Amino acid sequence: MPESGQQNLAATLQAIERMYADKLPERLRELGDCLRRCLDEPGVHAHCDQLLEKLHGLSGSAGTFGFSELGLRATELEILLGDFIAGTAAGGKDFLSVAARVKDFVRWAETDPKGDSRVAPPSEAAAAHQDDRMQPIYLVHDNAGMAHDIAVQLQHFGYAVTVVSDLARLEAAIAARAPAAVIMDLGFPAGILAGAAEAARIRQRGGRHFALIFISTRSNFTARLATVRAGADDYFSKPLDIVALVERLDRLLARGEARPLRILLIDENARTASAHAAILRAAGMETRVLDKAGETLQVLVEYRPELILMDLHLSTCGGAELTRLIRQDNLYLDVPIVFLSDEADVDKRLEAIGSGADDFLTMPITPAHLVSALSSRTQRYRELRGLIMRDGLTGLLNHSAVKEHLVREVARARRNGAPLALAMLDLDHFKRVNDLYGHPVGDQVIRAVARLLQQRLRRGDILGRYGGEEFVAIMPATLAATAAAVLDQVRESFSHIRHHSELEDFTATFSVGVAELGADGDADTLLEAADDALYRAKGGGRNRVAT
Ligand code: GH3
Ligand code: MG
Ligand code: MG
Repeated sequence: MPESGQQNLAATLQAIERMYADKLPERLRELGDCLRRCLDEPGVHAHCDQLLEKLHGLSGSAGTFGFSELGLRATELEILLGDFIAGTAAGGKDFLSVAARVKDFVRWAETDPKGDSRVAPPSEAAAAHQDDRMQPIYLVHDNAGMAHDIAVQLQHFGYAVTVVSDLARLEAAIAARAPAAVIMDLGFPAGILAGAAEAARIRQRGGRHFALIFISTRSNFTARLATVRAGADDYFSKPLDIVALVERLDRLLARGEARPLRILLIDENARTASAHAAILRAAGMETRVLDKAGETLQVLVEYRPELILMDLHLSTCGGAELTRLIRQDNLYLDVPIVFLSDEADVDKRLEAIGSGADDFLTMPITPAHLVSALSSRTQRYRELRGLIMRDGLTGLLNHSAVKEHLVREVARARRNGAPLALAMLDLDHFKRVNDLYGHPVGDQVIRAVARLLQQRLRRGDILGRYGGEEFVAIMPATLAATAAAVLDQVRESFSHIRHHSELEDFTATFSVGVAELGADGDADTLLEAADDALYRAKGGGRNRVAT
């Protein structure tokens, strides 16, 4: 936003805040009046309902006008009063304690409705000077045992966690060292929503952005809404599902950075092809130019393009014919094909589309138009394909996708003369886990393996769920010995991760077989060799890696 725009926005926000601040005394007076009626005539339900309504009004509107902490405090009272009215209040049916809290709230809101009087704002310069890669995660929790436990579990997944045991110290910790994420309990001795109130206050002061996740034993709607208003990215109820939490952190902190979209250009004119490729690369895409239509099928297997940009006029065959030929293979039924041509004849264009192409772009075309026409299509294809190719429980590639990738990687390794390792993992005595703790808990363990593999292996490694509790890792440019050493570390870490069940917490292990692509091996023999090695690992006593 240009500077003047920012100034306008800031001025508008200030004006809105002032408007709200002007109205606030009246609203607080009304709230006080309501409270008094409740206390004067204790048995009258309508008074309580009215008080609830007033609190609800404050909790709903304050955040919008820049008074987040006020809103959250009101929400907290709304929950307490709601509990009281419903007769479910934890501390008995004592309206007086709720009333005392409301009185405190009114007093606070009359003097310091933005919570300005507490801590000096953190120095933004200090926060901005930090190294992104080393950013810690703060875990704000006042139960030391529980905090330690969560921290240790997160550390197994490679996250550096610092426990902040006192809510009041969070702001100073953030000022001293900006975190990548803050995971915090919702309730503290100061109140059942104190965590949200503090987070909102800190966020309001600006500074560097951090991901914010709440954990709580409360799961009612209003409590969750309060965290949303505090700017939370997510909310987890206790007992904590560590794997789900890690998944969320991974996504929030974008550990799995997006790979560039892969575009194949089929064009016999080297000059236009390289010009278009340059435009697409400048927009962050990856390109491969093919000038011989006859090689299309090989290149599709190897390169797996996510979109094909094709000249309509090729010498060996027409673009429409080539499109039909590509569509004959089920694997490429849905890969987007876009024609790029100066063909003006409408019939020819219709024929091209009729052959199964998705779009027809006319030259000359501006770089911006080319990029936008291709990127949304390619992105959508990737997303759809991701859904089809991926296993729903773990998000890893499914059985057939793994095999497809393996064929491609074997071809690539052959061409480059590079090694290729394949690891096959199988959970140990997994039937027992299911029998003892139930299938859903078993699923949880399967997800934990998937997460750990995703975190510990390199980005170029390809991971799949091969069967129920079996996984494969395809590791390009890797020798079997290296792969075995890496997987042994993963195995060791996994054996320390505690899984949660209603019955008890427990640990689990897996065995691994590793094989390397031989001189005349193919995808099938490689899979067989890894499976044999896995069998040996099981026979050797399980919880080990065999090659
Ligand atoms: P071993 O150490 O020899 O591998 O013993 P095991 O009990 O793990 O034996 P095996 O690998 O043959 O058993 C696989 C079991 O895994 C069978 C099935 O109950 C369980 N399983 C397979 N798929 C799933 C799944 O998706 N979820 C859950 N919870 N369990 C699964
Ligand atoms: Mg098995
Ligand atoms: Mg097993």
